[in-house]
Amino acid sequence: MPSPRTITVIGGGPAGMMAAVAAARAGARVVLWEKNGSLGRKLLATGNGRCNLSNRDLDPRHFHGGGRDHVAHALSAFGPGPTLELFGRLGLEHYHDDRGRCFPASNEAGSVLFALEHELARLGVEIGTRREIVAVDRGRPGFVVRQRGRDQRCDAVVLACGGAASPQFGANGGGFELARRLGHRVTPIGPSLVPLDLAGNWFHKLQGVRLDMTLTLNGSAPITDEGLFTHYGLSGPLALRASRAVAAGPTSGTLSFTPGLGRGTVRDRLRLRREQLAGRMSAEFLCGWLPEKAGRMLVRESGIAAEATVSAIDDALLDVLAGNIVAFPAAINALRGLKEAQVTAGGVDCGEIFPGTMGSTLVPGLFFCGEVVDVDGDSGGYNLQWCWSSAWVAGTAAAG
Ligand SMILES: Cc1cc2nc3c(=O)[nH]c(=O)nc-3n(C[C@H](O)[C@H](O)[C@H](O)COP(=O)(O)OP(=O)(O)OC[C@H]3O[C@@H](n4cnc5c(N)ncnc54)[C@H](O)[C@@H]3O)c2cc1C
Repeated sequence: MPSPRTITVIGGGPAGMMAAVAAARAGARVVLWEKNGSLGRKLLATGNGRCNLSNRDLDPRHFHGGGRDHVAHALSAFGPGPTLELFGRLGLEHYHDDRGRCFPASNEAGSVLFALEHELARLGVEIGTRREIVAVDRGRPGFVVRQRGRDQRCDAVVLACGGAASPQFGANGGGFELARRLGHRVTPIGPSLVPLDLAGNWFHKLQGVRLDMTLTLNGSAPITDEGLFTHYGLSGPLALRASRAVAAGPTSGTLSFTPGLGRGTVRDRLRLRREQLAGRMSAEFLCGWLPEKAGRMLVRESGIAAEATVSAIDDALLDVLAGNIVAFPAAINALRGLKEAQVTAGGVDCGEIFPGTMGSTLVPGLFFCGEVVDVDGDSGGYNLQWCWSSAWVAGTAAAG
């Protein structure tokens, strides 16, 4: 019997682990190298520690970059159904929230890592941590995978080194260098799903305030989600979702602090509150309706004297306040950098990757998956689903 093909997977994130599982299940001998001291460090941070691992709505418009055909093929070959079925067989139960986002039933990202690590062990995948791959050379046949002071030969390589976003978790763009050395083009890299630097100083006292808001950027559809104010501006799912629209450059728009309520409704409610809370200090007019710091800011920015009583707010000022509550002008200076981004926009050029196998069109035996590829998804589990799907295709094809 011929000996099985040896597949080397570089990178022990979600994509690398899933590629290793797929290749080992297809009968290959698999070696997985990870430069961190443990696997899946970024995976553990996903979804605020809950891991939003997929989504019910897998419409292609949720994916960006150069790999339309690659996404379509990967999702049809190994979409959310087979992904969740595989995880289910590994003991991972899941649920979908009211936005269609899929989470482990335990609400712990650690459960996803646990399932993958157990499967890697069951399949006999050889894992080396604290092993940084510094070069991959063509061995003719196969490849020589080089660490400092140690070389390893193999028949095929799966490059799953991640991108350049949030480098504190391990992936720092090194995978792009490995791909370049093998002759691959890398499209321009930038941050995606990233907080926003706001202009002005109106938000400085709001640091730490978290609430559902609607952000309407000029020329874009309104986005409603949870925002978190920070010392530089806006973070949280709302900012991350809006960051794609901001990527083209500075922009402006409005923030509604009462999503779904029109100006007339808000004005009526303010009139009622003015009657009911007549003796209160104006600065505290909105306390009990909006977060206190947000209420104080809106009163201040509407030109209402903080020390006056609520009964002294005239109709004109009430109208200004209503306008600010439903459409507060917000200008966005810039995106925060790659350091704070959840994912990388750009990556290994999909024009040099076969969509059906995720294999290189330039170097036979070389495969790509996950964030290292020029595909990035919206917030909502799309990036991890891309990892699972592309990795399954790459790992299976590498083993074949
Ligand atoms: C805070 C945060 C929250 C997120 N939440 C979600 C979420 O809820 N849902 C979602 O879909 N996506 C989420 N994402 C995005 C998601 O984590 C990434 O899309 C995903 O981790 C990419 O997987 P990957 O395996 O391609 O890369 P990575 O997870 O980055 O793994 C790559 C691995 O390769 C290793 N490596 C790199 N170079 C080498 C080398 N030369 N030698 C050896 N090892 C190497 C790295 O150390 C790393 O462990 C989140 C990201 C962040 C930062």
